[in-house]
Amino acid sequence: MNGFQRKRTLPVTRPIFIIFDLLMKKIVDEIINTLLGILSPDDVIPLHEPFFYGNEKKYINDCIDTRFVSSIGAYVTQFETLLAEFTGAKHVIATVNGTSALHISLLMAGVRQGDEVLVPALTFVATANAVTYCTATPHFIDSNPVTLGIDVEKLDHYLQQNTRMENNICINTTTLRPIRAIVPVHIFGTPVDMDPLMKICNKFHLTLIEDAAESLGSYYKGTHTGTFGLCGALSFNGNKTITTGGGGAILCNNEKIALQAKHLTTTARLNNNFHYVHDQTGFNYRMPNINAAIGCAQIEQLPYFLKKKRKLAFKYINAFEPVKGVAIINEPDYAKNNFWLNTLMLDKPDNKLLQTILERTNRMGIQTRPIWTLLHKLPMYKRCPSMELSCALELEDRVINIPSSINLVD
Ligand SMILES: *Cc1c(COP(=O)(O)O)cnc(C)c1O
Repeated sequence: MNGFQRKRTLPVTRPIFIIFDLLMKKIVDEIINTLLGILSPDDVIPLHEPFFYGNEKKYINDCIDTRFVSSIGAYVTQFETLLAEFTGAKHVIATVNGTSALHISLLMAGVRQGDEVLVPALTFVATANAVTYCTATPHFIDSNPVTLGIDVEKLDHYLQQNTRMENNICINTTTLRPIRAIVPVHIFGTPVDMDPLMKICNKFHLTLIEDAAESLGSYYKGTHTGTFGLCGALSFNGNKTITTGGGGAILCNNEKIALQAKHLTTTARLNNNFHYVHDQTGFNYRMPNINAAIGCAQIEQLPYFLKKKRKLAFKYINAFEPVKGVAIINEPDYAKNNFWLNTLMLDKPDNKLLQTILERTNRMGIQTRPIWTLLHKLPMYKRCPSMELSCALELEDRVINIPSSINLVD
């Protein structure tokens, strides 16, 4: 292009940019006004706050009074029983956090050095870290634009093109490594479409481990998330639906696997009277009694929390219904969501619009957040195998989480 042409095109393009800016301001104004119809920020409205309305202090005091504060205590077993009742899992093992629950679950799936494990590129980093702790390699897969979970159809096609079965093991034909397991993540509490996913698991002999860290209280066709595969992992971090300060749990329907998992979380110590005998390199992953005490009090309030979260979600969904260009993620027909974090979705990827919404909402005290940086972009994971990730890449420029605490509705 020569100088003459450049001079001529500049004045023509400028007014178009001004019109774009005005249009964008109008869209952002409308989004903010819609949020202000539900939220009244006098100080800062956090993205997600824990609430302790129940027996938390009473149970913590009980731990202190009895001096059972550590990893042996009645609240640990009680919390596991309550979680089993709530989720329908046959066995529950409480752990120090959700990441350790994922780590042990993957070990139970037989994930070992040289293996690959399919994980979404769009998830919290812990999903891939747990694979790395097993000295295996995460293999990134693309997301579904409606649920933000795994794109099951695309995955089926991808595995057909890029793997072959050898002695009932799925082999990546590029790296020649076994693909041992798959970890679907129920992102923000929206369940992945499990029926077709389980078909793929059977077809390609992949062990299913669910990352249900965000989906306590979410159901797929009436069954609680985290109970479909060999194991599922929950998290009770401070920002999750219920919290134990830090904590997690393994859900498992297989008694033998559950016993092994529990053994590994308790330094693999053998029940050998007062002697310290360990039969393998175990982990110090057992949840302390004091955390489980908080968990017991929190799970008593879980149905109430879920009711509140559902009410808030539908307030958002209805309020944004008439707003053009955006929508709030709703539950799929097959699911009941816990609506852990509400999600504003732009119809089309637009980084500038996304940044403007984030800046303006946070400046006025409405805490909003973009979605995680895609894992294949992080330094430690950028050389991992990956399918083409066009949907996840678009979602990076479409998704904003908005305040979702239970105190935001009456
Ligand atoms: C919170 C979370 C985890 C990890 O849980 P921690 O208790 O923080 O270790 C794992 N995966 C996802 C998707 C999460 O949101």
